[in-house]
Amino acid sequence: MAGLTFKHIYKVYPNGTKAVNDFNMNVEDKEFIVFVGPSGCGKSTTLRMVAGLEDISAGELTIGDLVVNDVEPKDRDIAMVFQNYALYPHMTVYDNIAFGLRLRKVPRDELHKNGKMTREEIHAKVTEAAEILGITEYLGKKPKEMSGGQRQRVSLGRAIVREPKVMLLDEPLSNLDAKLRTQMRSEISKLHKKLNTTFIYVTHDQVEAMTMGTRIVVMKDGYIQQIDTPKNLYNYPGNKFVAGFIGTPQMNFFTGTLKKLGENVEICLAGSSSVITVPYSKLYKVVPTYLDGKTTVCIGLRAEDISIDPEKISNAEALIKVKVSHKEELGNQTLIYGDINMEGDGYGESGTRVIIQADEAEAESGDIIVAALNVDKLHLFDVETERSILPRLPEYNYLDCKVAGGKLLLQGVSISLPPAISCADGEYRLLVPTDAVKIGGDIEAEAISSEKINGKNLVSLNVEGRRMFAVSKEEVPCGKLNISFDLKKISLSNDSGIVVAAMPEKVCMEGYMYKEKVKETAERNGKQKTVTRIAFFLNIGGAVFPAPDKISAKLISAMGVKKAFGGKLRYECSPYDLTFAESGIPAEVLYVADYGAEKFAVCNICGNTAYVRCDGDVSGNVYLMPNIDALSVIQSEMDIRII
Ligand code: ADP
Repeated sequence: MAGLTFKHIYKVYPNGTKAVNDFNMNVEDKEFIVFVGPSGCGKSTTLRMVAGLEDISAGELTIGDLVVNDVEPKDRDIAMVFQNYALYPHMTVYDNIAFGLRLRKVPRDELHKNGKMTREEIHAKVTEAAEILGITEYLGKKPKEMSGGQRQRVSLGRAIVREPKVMLLDEPLSNLDAKLRTQMRSEISKLHKKLNTTFIYVTHDQVEAMTMGTRIVVMKDGYIQQIDTPKNLYNYPGNKFVAGFIGTPQMNFFTGTLKKLGENVEICLAGSSSVITVPYSKLYKVVPTYLDGKTTVCIGLRAEDISIDPEKISNAEALIKVKVSHKEELGNQTLIYGDINMEGDGYGESGTRVIIQADEAEAESGDIIVAALNVDKLHLFDVETERSILPRLPEYNYLDCKVAGGKLLLQGVSISLPPAISCADGEYRLLVPTDAVKIGGDIEAEAISSEKINGKNLVSLNVEGRRMFAVSKEEVPCGKLNISFDLKKISLSNDSGIVVAAMPEKVCMEGYMYKEKVKETAERNGKQKTVTRIAFFLNIGGAVFPAPDKISAKLISAMGVKKAFGGKLRYECSPYDLTFAESGIPAEVLYVADYGAEKFAVCNICGNTAYVRCDGDVSGNVYLMPNIDALSVIQSEMDIRII
């Protein structure tokens, strides 16, 4: 039994296809993880890297406590089940299941003189597996005498007798008909509970993913889109792709605008004359710049959140007129297809087509009906980036403020600004990242609620009548408390643009790796001798440092021996990972940014501006020493994070 850690995992095939990009996740021991996404999104490649059937181009994969990048597949303690069963046709079911066990090496002792499992041990395992899978009566048969479902059970049997730490399943049910798929789905879930081991399951079928996974990884074009529980993916999709991929029928997507009018938000849907008014209290997490009544947004609502039930219509907060085009009878329910645009045809996937789920529907093609919208279930997305603009975990607080005499004035709150934040007196829009709102300080506030989201606590605060959010690692009890802002992270803007930018969280530098022959004296047979060896060096911002083995090895493994050297590298570290020194990276201090509690020297390093933590006055030309262990190294040309 084991968990897995994927750290910046990439796969670049020899033809240059970047199949997996910066895949990061922790899989807990005993989880049932499903990788899901459309064909070609990189899910099988990721699974095959876990199995050891594909090399990992860059990144680190850990199974249990062991980094397995260079561990042979047979030594990874995993078992894999494939779509095509991969059974030996000439062997009986019994032999197919026993095959791997007969080859398996075990420690030699009295019982296992030849380092193999005994016939009795193998028999016990095979019969136990057959019993678990309900194939005992087929043990004497050959695979060709069995149905698809039975064959897949055999391949599951072959996997489970190995008692792997991790079970990998690559579309195991794709070859089965719909009924058998449903049956096998629950059998695999049952097997997972029984074996109590970590499962990673690949499928393109979102229903399979939703019904089986404890958590699901949704992928697209080689990138993770979202990792969450089935319920959270359904209720809180982080982007339009996830919203559209999870759930049948697909979520309805409309285009429209949002306008805040007092305590309400007015939603206008393009093509429809119906105006929807929603209390702002339901949309307070919406990024305010989208509430201007002008910016086009994408509005999502699932078919079950649009209703023609008369009771729901009479109690509805929002109604919409729909012209019915056609219906799909599903037996227990009906899907009504229509258009919110009276000129639309309701067939094509347009920004006005609507699908309504109904228990029964009397509406006929051509009818104009009224439907109730459940505005509690609205999903909103940016039309360009497709990211949710109604995020579950807001990233920023958007506030209006004034600056006067070196003070930041928020209704009822006055904050002295440090010298680093200097701007003319006037009105500004203030952006405070939710993780820059700290518990403790001298701003009085009240915690209204606290919600645990993906391991973080989102605290809703009332600050002098304004709602703000703080994201904290610790739980915060409701009630009065004091807060403060990490002023390095705030930014101020007005109509002419950003006036004060947040301090960059990263220092970026450029360089490359090269190799050189170095001469060293070494003791050989008691004599001092000069020996030559190849050493690797990193050029970082113009200064040279010996390349730590872990960086050179990873770079060579990712890029190949030829391309590892000379290619442009980008280094990233935090402003706390550079120190002033007698020698090192040459830099010019442009000025010192004084944030009160902390000061940072703003330096020019080969054309890149970097903030470096400093204690006091520094100026002119200096040298900086990086903490090489803390550096992130990115191969710029391939955009691969090496470490
Ligand atoms: P999925 O399992 O999600 O359908 P894959 O992991 O099989 O996707 O493939 C991801 C991408 O990598 C696709 O663009 C595919 O064409 C490409 N790919 C897969 N295998 C190879 C290979 N051996 N050589 C080159 N490209 C490959």
